[in-house]
Amino acid sequence: MSSPRLLLKGGRVLDLDRDPHHPAVADVLIVDGRIAAIGAVPDEVGAAPPETIDLGGKLVVPGFVNAHYHSHDIFLKGCFDPSVLEFWALNALPRAYPPRSDEEIRLRTLLGAVECIRGGITTVQDMLTLYPLTAEQVDVVKSAYDAAGLRAILGLQVGDMSPLDTVPYWRETIPPELQPTLMGGPPVAGPDPVAVMNEVFARRDPASLVRWAVSPSSPERCSRPLLEKLADVARRFDLPVYAHIYISRAEALTARRMFGDFNGSMIDYLDAVGLLGPKLTLAHGVWLDRREIDRIAAAGVSVVLNMLSNLKTKNGVAPIRPMLAAGINLALGCDNCSCSDAQNIFQAMKLYTFLAAVSDPTEGPPDAADALRAATMAGARTAGLQDRIGALRIGMRADITVIDTDDPVYQPFNSAARQIVYGEGGRAVTTVIVDGRVVMRDRVIQTVDEAALRTELARIVPGFRADADKVFARTARLRPYILEADKRIWREDVGIDRYLSR
Ligand SMILES: [Zn+2]
Repeated sequence: MSSPRLLLKGGRVLDLDRDPHHPAVADVLIVDGRIAAIGAVPDEVGAAPPETIDLGGKLVVPGFVNAHYHSHDIFLKGCFDPSVLEFWALNALPRAYPPRSDEEIRLRTLLGAVECIRGGITTVQDMLTLYPLTAEQVDVVKSAYDAAGLRAILGLQVGDMSPLDTVPYWRETIPPELQPTLMGGPPVAGPDPVAVMNEVFARRDPASLVRWAVSPSSPERCSRPLLEKLADVARRFDLPVYAHIYISRAEALTARRMFGDFNGSMIDYLDAVGLLGPKLTLAHGVWLDRREIDRIAAAGVSVVLNMLSNLKTKNGVAPIRPMLAAGINLALGCDNCSCSDAQNIFQAMKLYTFLAAVSDPTEGPPDAADALRAATMAGARTAGLQDRIGALRIGMRADITVIDTDDPVYQPFNSAARQIVYGEGGRAVTTVIVDGRVVMRDRVIQTVDEAALRTELARIVPGFRADADKVFARTARLRPYILEADKRIWREDVGIDRYLSR
């Protein structure tokens, strides 16, 4: 349980609105999960002395927001080398697997949560894919996040279109007898996903740090009636909407072909179905064109960049500088465990600053402080929590990551922002606080017994691996046809390029 009064003593408290390089030493008083004072903390007459953590010069930074993540394929980390997105997805999507047990879902959620906490992440936006989607298994996931103490926004991801109808050339290249095996067989019957959302979103649990989002998988993977229903659910419950958009070149081609009535644009189509607006956050956006960038900027849409998974699935580099120039709120995500493969926001921040050079060789943003803003404030905005998390200010919730500057990457200490973004890998994260609760202290997770978790994982993972091997054997037969479709996609013009040279 969280201590009602917690004092973080003698740390260097990062304020990105002041000096991001040389944070001032200040105490931080947390009362009932809220930052009550920063700086000179007054002795309160009659108040019980707070529990004190002595930080002796360590860096005290806002907890990081991992703004795009999927907990469903965490047991597939390390299973793949870089491959074509559409082929990787066949191996990793829940729809390709038999339904999973409650216990497996609980353990995989906990494992991901522990990895996030160890990396200084205090909020994760899990675009949760359950197959089939049931309120009971959503509750299993929610309970796991509650137990770990991680703040989570769960986007319930749905789609109702077959990839045969959305990925260009799959109908033509995949032999008819193999087409029914694409996802392993006919769909498993489950409740109506919109009814599940209505049930889940109506529940109230004020003690929980879990919040909800509506998640159409991608504009082309949902029928128009489904998208319109999701837009309606999001409006009624006043929830953020998280969708994928334009990860691969193939998806840009899909837009040109499927949405001819909407200028060949998924963005124009999203506008037509009532989803374009400040509540919408789009993951990836690698193949957005200039006109679309301006449209989403004008609509107040946020984008979550996932450079690590984009590179692993061979999608090129998102137009970072044009998106920044347009004023889009850019957050950072670590994405799936099997195409990233680590929940490491430091890797994401470093790539964010370095990959901007691909789209523009001149000096300019983003710099290290911009990367920290993207991984904190910008992510908080995509969660709709910009007034509560993302910065260390009086009145905000106490989501805090402590970094040990005794680590060699901080010796000598020249700049907090630059040494975190360019040097840190996660090794120096020592203590993590979420909503005032210490979830990791001196590198020991306080909320989950990690040794017991490993024992439980050892028991459950072999069953998952056996299913995964069956999926891999099935997709190996499909692979030549997928790659043939990919070749044909390459021959088509989509009007933009996101690769350096070919
Ligand atoms: Zn994703």
